Amino acid sequence: MSVDDAILMRGARKRYGRKQALDGLDLAVRRGTVHGLLGPNGAGKTTTVRVLATLLRHDEGEVRVAGHDVRREAAEVRRRIGLLGQHAALDEELSGRQNLEMFARLHHLGARRAVRRADELLERFFGLADTGRKAVRQYSGGMRRRLDLAASLITDPEVLFLDEPTTGLDPRGRGEVWESVRSLVGAGTTVLLTTQYLEEADQLADRISVVDQGRVVADGTPDELKTRAGRDRIDVVVRDGARLDEALRLLPSGTAEADVDRDRRRISAPVRDRTASLAETVRALEAAGIEAEDIALRRPTLDEVFLHLTSARAEEVAA
Ligand code: ATP
Repeated sequence: MSVDDAILMRGARKRYGRKQALDGLDLAVRRGTVHGLLGPNGAGKTTTVRVLATLLRHDEGEVRVAGHDVRREAAEVRRRIGLLGQHAALDEELSGRQNLEMFARLHHLGARRAVRRADELLERFFGLADTGRKAVRQYSGGMRRRLDLAASLITDPEVLFLDEPTTGLDPRGRGEVWESVRSLVGAGTTVLLTTQYLEEADQLADRISVVDQGRVVADGTPDELKTRAGRDRIDVVVRDGARLDEALRLLPSGTAEADVDRDRRRISAPVRDRTASLAETVRALEAAGIEAEDIALRRPTLDEVFLHLTSARAEEVAA
């Protein structure tokens, strides 16, 4: 384990009856970073988090959190972690401030320190002090999750586990939670984030591990994963939908691999060489007198990457 790793898993295995939930999972998370754990349902994400948070004993492999072994030094690990699950235990009738004070007292902070800690967290997550005086039942979904997040930080954990933190939130609530997570990492906390939203991992994570059937099938920065999974793409929107097929034939990659969206008058195709392809396309469209509303080069999205990786894996298993 490098001293820079806040989380290390090497060859972790966990079996439930006949189901091998973790099948030699490897994970290394550097201190002060956000690491995304992505994978389809049943991949083993929740099992991984439960093992790391000392809620479940694994069968084999080395697992260390904040420098301590999760089996032999579970109490040391617990002292250094926070966990935000999918359902939090907030008291609806109490205000945000009272909830935080209650959590602080449950963590054995004295009355005065509890008040101070609640104040600090309210200030950090909500800015406005009066939010803290409102009863939790009046909070929006996004505010509630931020209060959950504040509660999980009472003990100032070195490592925080966020298990699907924005499930069920609307886009605005999701954005608010993202902001809070970003500010956390700025303060030095290491975050392991499991999510089913690829965009969320793309927005927040420094690195991502894609998990499938209890193993990591790919790992890297969001950019690396996108590069590995596929070529850049060129998107062209033509002004006159009647000329879409003509434009399609002019694309450098040819028509075979292109996606066509007739309603939006848009073509998207992979390219071999970013700069050359853009220049070629602009010239070819101009020469043919086809007006483009928009031409852009882009990386593949994480959605495209994810599909590519998990289908590649399915083929490997079938082979
Ligand atoms: P999801 O996104 O659906 O929560 P996940 O990636 O978190 O999925 P896990 O919950 O870790 O996946 O489950 C991994 C595998 O182990 C799944 O096949 C699941 O059905 C199985 N499993 C999980 N908990 C148990 C249990 N207590 N007993 C038996 N099998 C279990």
